[in-house]
Amino acid sequence: MDFLSLFIIYLLLVLASIVLVCIYSGRKESFPARGLSCITQISSFIIPTWLQRPTQRMLHRLFHTRSCLFIVLHLALQVTIFGEYSWEIFGYCQELEFDTHYLLLPYVLLAVNMGFFILCSVTNPGTVTQSNQESFLKAYAYDGVMFQKNIMCPTCNVEKPARSKHCSVCNSCVHRFDHHCVWVNNCIGAFNIRYFLLYLFTVTALAADLAFVTAAFLIQVVLLSNMMLGSYIDDQGQEHAIDILFLIQHLFLTFPRIVFMLGFVVVLSLVLGAYCCFSLYLALTNQTSNEWYKSRRYECSCCRALEPHDRHIVYRNVYSQGVWVNLKEIFKPTSSEKKKKT
Ligand SMILES: [Zn+2]
Ligand SMILES: [Zn+2]
Repeated sequence: MDFLSLFIIYLLLVLASIVLVCIYSGRKESFPARGLSCITQISSFIIPTWLQRPTQRMLHRLFHTRSCLFIVLHLALQVTIFGEYSWEIFGYCQELEFDTHYLLLPYVLLAVNMGFFILCSVTNPGTVTQSNQESFLKAYAYDGVMFQKNIMCPTCNVEKPARSKHCSVCNSCVHRFDHHCVWVNNCIGAFNIRYFLLYLFTVTALAADLAFVTAAFLIQVVLLSNMMLGSYIDDQGQEHAIDILFLIQHLFLTFPRIVFMLGFVVVLSLVLGAYCCFSLYLALTNQTSNEWYKSRRYECSCCRALEPHDRHIVYRNVYSQGVWVNLKEIFKPTSSEKKKKT
């Protein structure tokens, strides 16, 4: 197997891992959760019996209880990427006389991103308790389809306000529940969705900026060396003009860590960019991830006999009041309840 095939396999693996972890961290009932249970089942044939129980316990602890592990992983990734950026790329770019402001932008984005990350992690998402349930009950009307009146949460012993959901990881009901995010180790609800969205947009901008600076550096190296005008001799002794595949291979062998990092941040930017678009769509239409996911279950009764893709959805989003009002609601949540630390 040649270098390029290995590099493509590496990129596909990184992409698949990021997609799985990103989506799984959002909704544990969804496809990746089924994927994870499928992996657990397959691994039960491979892992020895005495190791199966500790492995299942570890997976459960990782994804179904509040744990700082993903925060540590998140910080480790940022330290690794910024370590490489500061150690090699920054110095090389200075030698090539790149504008210093341009090179410092990733650090500014990192500082802003860390600020939103901390705010998202420590802000109470809107935990519903017996003392504050009255104010949350008045916040939204029950739509009678997804959210029904007079439903009690048996764990929290509170009446469930419309748009709330009990989070089994945090063990509490959350007002305007969006999802439980393992990366920030907190639920995303009415009071921290704005920080989550700003965190998501800044982390995407950060990954894209790093990819842009790194790609600009490698392009500059290629242009300055006039490499594209040269030729190479293959194993059979034949001469060929330098093409893009040869160039990627050459750059990888010359700057292995930088090309590796570029592959990672490009894939990360694409995945995060897609998730940003989806989150923006939800914000503009006043839907939570939880509601968007559940809405697909409410089908017209006369369609039950039809194939799943031919069925009509009867659920109607009653909370949308136009793009600007919906956006305002993200930054000024509907509830008189003051924010408190969990
Ligand atoms: Zn509850
Ligand atoms: Zn939670």
